[in-house]
Amino acid sequence: LTATAPLDLLADFPAIPQGWAYLDTAATSQKPQPVIDAIMRGYARDYATVHRGVYQRSADMTLAYEAARRRVATFIGGREDEVVFVRGATEGINLVAQSWAIPNLKPGDRILLSQLEHHSNIVPWQMAAERTGAAIDVVPLTDDHRIDLDAMAAMLTDRHKLVALAHVSNVLGSVLDVKRATELAHGVGAKILIDGCQAVPRLPVNVTDLGCDFYVFSGHKLYGPTGIGVLWGRHALLDAMPPWQGGGSMIDRVTFEKTTYAPPPGRFEAGTPHIIGVTGLHAAIDYVDAIGLTRIHAHETALVARARYALSALNSVRLFGPADSAGIVSFEVQGVHPHDVATILDEGDVAIRAGHHCAQPLMDSLGVAATARASFGVYNGASDIDALVKGIERVTRIFG
Ligand code: PMP
Repeated sequence: LTATAPLDLLADFPAIPQGWAYLDTAATSQKPQPVIDAIMRGYARDYATVHRGVYQRSADMTLAYEAARRRVATFIGGREDEVVFVRGATEGINLVAQSWAIPNLKPGDRILLSQLEHHSNIVPWQMAAERTGAAIDVVPLTDDHRIDLDAMAAMLTDRHKLVALAHVSNVLGSVLDVKRATELAHGVGAKILIDGCQAVPRLPVNVTDLGCDFYVFSGHKLYGPTGIGVLWGRHALLDAMPPWQGGGSMIDRVTFEKTTYAPPPGRFEAGTPHIIGVTGLHAAIDYVDAIGLTRIHAHETALVARARYALSALNSVRLFGPADSAGIVSFEVQGVHPHDVATILDEGDVAIRAGHHCAQPLMDSLGVAATARASFGVYNGASDIDALVKGIERVTRIFG
């Protein structure tokens, strides 16, 4: 197989029946059999708690849990003690907002976000700004719907302490030049968090190479279980951050007079963790790594090109986002509400998402209330795009 050969992996996904075009992977991906098997084995054969038990089963489960942490670290090019397991990207961003931003920001400081951020990369910073008296600035988009890094360069000042940007937009598929964004942020002494939710399943990601300070993603968009995600942070930063939740496992020593905390990452993992979520994530990473992110990216790029080409041939369709978007195509059918588009497509067994995609400020800047969005994964093929286009043709026939 070459990098551009189509993937033929549908048989790995038992929840995708023949003839169903699942085009909502940006919301959540379907699960391959090896991930389902790992979850089954975890509960049906290997299950026990971690970090506490002295009996063999628990010691083995602990080894599996920590092996998954190492696997995440090698997958994203970070250190094992820099990988914090969280519930998802949302929790990872909230952790940084609570434990890094609130202790470090003061009135007059500024946070820089972009116009295309997901609500989970906006609201936690608004909460931190409210608590600290910091203010938020918003980087606009270019005409072809990318984060405008030239505008960002002009906006940054030494009052900016934090920049938080999406690596890949969940609505437009626009890919950020993270290295340049990082250089710009570091140029004024700001830290930079990258929301990698849509990037990690679609592109090779190496946090050391990117140079950023924090990177977050969710397991369920990476063909893994829900309820598990990763915050990667530079060790020196994590080490200086206070815990954000207290409980078991995150302590060094507890007395009623004073409690001392474990070093990271344990400091940020209070309570019994999502053990089988973690081992399921390990299986998901093995699955995508065996295919290869370069191949997955090439595959999705080909699907995007096919979809954009076919949809742009329909007069009624307006496409959003850049031509080289990563695995995600947002569009509108003129005169038809995206929900109606999605409902009619569903009647033809094509599943897309319609709505604001948790990015209302982006909708405002695009001048729409909602978009229709088709997003691709390793299981999609040309026939799914053809079904999408056929469905849109039907929409335009119905709505005249
Ligand atoms: N950021 C982006 C870009 C996303 O696409 C999503 C999920 N739609 C999130 C953050 C939040 O992820 P989760 O809901 O898994 O925490």
